[in-house]
Amino acid sequence: MKLQKSELPALLERIYSEVTPLYGVGKTADYIPPLSRVNPRQFGMAIRFVDGDEFTVGQASTPFSIQSISKLFALMLALDIVGDDLWKRVGREPSGMRFNSLLQLENENGIPRNPFINAGAIVVTDTIVNHSASPVKRLEQFMASLSGNVFNRYDPEVYVAEARTGYRNAAIANLLKALGNLEGEVDVVLDSYYKQCSMTMSCLDLARATESLANKGKSSFRTQFHGERMDKRVNALMLTCGLYDAAGNFAYQVGLPAKSGVGGGIVAVLPGYFSVAVWSPELDNYGNSVLGQKALELLTHYTSSSIF
Ligand code: GLU
Repeated sequence: MKLQKSELPALLERIYSEVTPLYGVGKTADYIPPLSRVNPRQFGMAIRFVDGDEFTVGQASTPFSIQSISKLFALMLALDIVGDDLWKRVGREPSGMRFNSLLQLENENGIPRNPFINAGAIVVTDTIVNHSASPVKRLEQFMASLSGNVFNRYDPEVYVAEARTGYRNAAIANLLKALGNLEGEVDVVLDSYYKQCSMTMSCLDLARATESLANKGKSSFRTQFHGERMDKRVNALMLTCGLYDAAGNFAYQVGLPAKSGVGGGIVAVLPGYFSVAVWSPELDNYGNSVLGQKALELLTHYTSSSIF
């Protein structure tokens, strides 16, 4: 990596000034009112090195709806609970379809392609539900234990809106149940899934919470995971499946394992060096933050820091 840490504050300011001309190119998620109401012109970025040094720019401490980034934490928790048994029920391949598609699920007998499309994430949630007395509390506590922030909880307003408009997710869960890949009751699993999508975190929380993925499973806030080499396995999935239908292009432009959400957040890791989170609510047609992707591309470009 071509970078002295002392150069980072200036570099982050430079990235900030180079991405803000992109305001207005994308559009905030509009499928639920609490997301469409978010001020679109916001940008934050936080980077945390494995030695604990942190650098931020913009609104790095502003909490936002992490949406599908929660699929990453749910996956880590499910792997921690059931280990490789999870892979009997979910695949590890890119889907090549929209994240909430039903077509492939029917064709492939109820085994979702990967844990980051909705069908896969609902199976992951089902796993947590069936092994926990209070699944949502368990996930909240898990995330707080990774980020060190006990205020990482679900937002009730976002949750109600998710539940009210979740027709496709309900269809997916019902199809999973019909095809024999959902152990819990549909309503119970969906309730937990919607709450998980409604979790609120800041860039700084996310950069801290993904430290273990950059640091061979070690986290400053939490002791080792049970699963062996969680970082290697989760990073591989993020690289191939973490950005909806744009994972290939993101790997090309940025070259870091990452996971995005329609709240406008993206987390990414450079194994052995740092975890980084960006947030800006305006999305491109794939559902990925326009400014967030550009900021990560500039970061890896200016610091020669991709995995490739
Ligand atoms: N809550 C969304 C859903 O399940 C997830 C949105 C996202 O992909 O970030 O439809």
